[in-house]
Amino acid sequence: MNMITNHMPTAELQALDAAHHIHPFSTQDEIANKGVRVITRASGVTLTDSEGCEILDAMAGLWCVNLGYGRDELADVAARQMRELPYYNTFFQTTHVPAIALAAKLAELAPGDLNHVFYAGSGSEANDTNMRMVRTYWAQKGKPEKKIIISRKNAYHGSTMAGASLGGMTPMHEQGGLPIPDVHHIDQPHWYEEGGDMSREEFGLQRAQELEKAILELGEDKIAAFIGEPIQGAGGVVIPPSTYWPEIQRICDKYEILLIADEVICGFGRTGNWFGSQTMGIKPHIMTIAKGLSSGYAPIGGSIVCDEVVEVIGACEFNHGYTYSGHPVAAAVALENLRILEEEGIVDKVREETGPYLKEKWEALEDHPLVGEARVEGLMGTIALTPNKETRAPFAGDSGTVGYICREFCFANNLVMRHVGDRMIISPPLVISKAEIDTLVERATMALDLTFARIK
Ligand code: PLP
Repeated sequence: MNMITNHMPTAELQALDAAHHIHPFSTQDEIANKGVRVITRASGVTLTDSEGCEILDAMAGLWCVNLGYGRDELADVAARQMRELPYYNTFFQTTHVPAIALAAKLAELAPGDLNHVFYAGSGSEANDTNMRMVRTYWAQKGKPEKKIIISRKNAYHGSTMAGASLGGMTPMHEQGGLPIPDVHHIDQPHWYEEGGDMSREEFGLQRAQELEKAILELGEDKIAAFIGEPIQGAGGVVIPPSTYWPEIQRICDKYEILLIADEVICGFGRTGNWFGSQTMGIKPHIMTIAKGLSSGYAPIGGSIVCDEVVEVIGACEFNHGYTYSGHPVAAAVALENLRILEEEGIVDKVREETGPYLKEKWEALEDHPLVGEARVEGLMGTIALTPNKETRAPFAGDSGTVGYICREFCFANNLVMRHVGDRMIISPPLVISKAEIDTLVERATMALDLTFARIK
């Protein structure tokens, strides 16, 4: 077979891809017949495809390229680490400098007494770890019946058996016999779609109180933990009402339920603080991390765990670990990524400059006839498309039809913006400039105009 390179004609690359590559969350029909876009290079916030088109990536890949593309420092660190120590494990009383240094740095950045790191290769794996860790914690405390983990409908916590079970995505549960036992889902704090006539604040409180109801119904002595994303990402950037998280915290404290914040998207500056838990004012016992940890330059995830949980599980052998737990190259890349985020003041810039700038421009999209709501937290944004701004009604027919049209217009106009149903979402690299935000909003507006014209 000939060498397959960036220089091959796009159609040949597409044909090979359709013949041999199974894509996540795609149908083979889409891959074979709709023509996948082949991305060949990237720099800053811009992707280049095999046709030479330059595309503004308003999703930072899959919410992960916080530092933007093309940072040589990360490539240099990876090459250096590969030469020095490409691999060694962290099982059986061994360790290495990148794993030590990254854990120490994460303990410094994380709030409160979140001082310990268990490494994984991804966010999904880290949530598998969390499930076993919280159950082990309670078993060690003599309460092995405390096994149930409460999560939310429309949450996303990954694609492994535990991750997808903790997640609340019905289409995922419909495949492969999920959820696994002892996971319970309560309703999400999605005011726009589910809040009816209630104020945001009343609704937030009511949805948080579902946690208390579930604890009482299932039995306080059976609940191990509650898990939630500070802001649901893949569910459509659901920014909860301000009353939601304080009430969840109160309930977790009252019933001594462990609180797991899934920071896979919200972590590492996305919401204008190092962690979404800080933005939402919560104090988790465990934080799930991945994505922005290495800005996607190397696959790495993990759990940052508080003193109390580690003291308890440390008394036994935690029979759990991955070949790539603390992989030295991934850990070195992550550490360099954190160094740059910190030294260049990127998180502060999101909070003080680019976040507020995006908010002003993005929220102005609420004037568009197709937009029912436009919201931003840090550099995460969402717009709800609607045929009726007053009633917040959904479109007739299948949810996602209009969102898909809008996404296609975005792509045709060199903007990556994702749709979740009929919601459009963004999460650009944190290094995006104000001028690039202007371009993003201009292209999004053009896509909205074209969508509006198409469906009229
Ligand atoms: N948790 C959240 C909140 C996520 O958004 C994701 C991925 O999008 C995951 C977990 C799973 O992470 P990974 O895809 O690295 O397994």
